[in-house]
Amino acid sequence: MFLTWVKICPSCPVCGFRLDRHEPGYWLGSLTVNIFATEGVIMTLLVAVMFATWPEVPWDRLETAGLVAAIGAPVFVFPFTKMFYLAVDLCFRPPEPPDLATPIERGFLAPRPTPTAGSTSG
Ligand SMILES: [Zn+2]
Repeated sequence: MFLTWVKICPSCPVCGFRLDRHEPGYWLGSLTVNIFATEGVIMTLLVAVMFATWPEVPWDRLETAGLVAAIGAPVFVFPFTKMFYLAVDLCFRPPEPPDLATPIERGFLAPRPTPTAGSTSG
């Protein structure tokens, strides 16, 4: 479903389901899921280290690790939160015929132009 870690296909290559459900701003919901997942990862990390090292908590290293997690976690969980959001949305709103792309929209490549009779010379 993903072309790169952060770029999603416009539609499912198998069934033609439009992954953004053909709605502008559809992925804003996945952004919310991403924020909650990132907060969960960071808080779990910080609390686990605090409990494991109490009372000699390495605050400096914990601060650095928290900063790295705050930057890296949203990128790491990005595709997972996007698919999770889509799955939850599909539970509440099953796909309907407008959600399915026309066959020409299924592929990632533009349709090849058909050769014409006089275009071979030159
Ligand atoms: Zn599909």
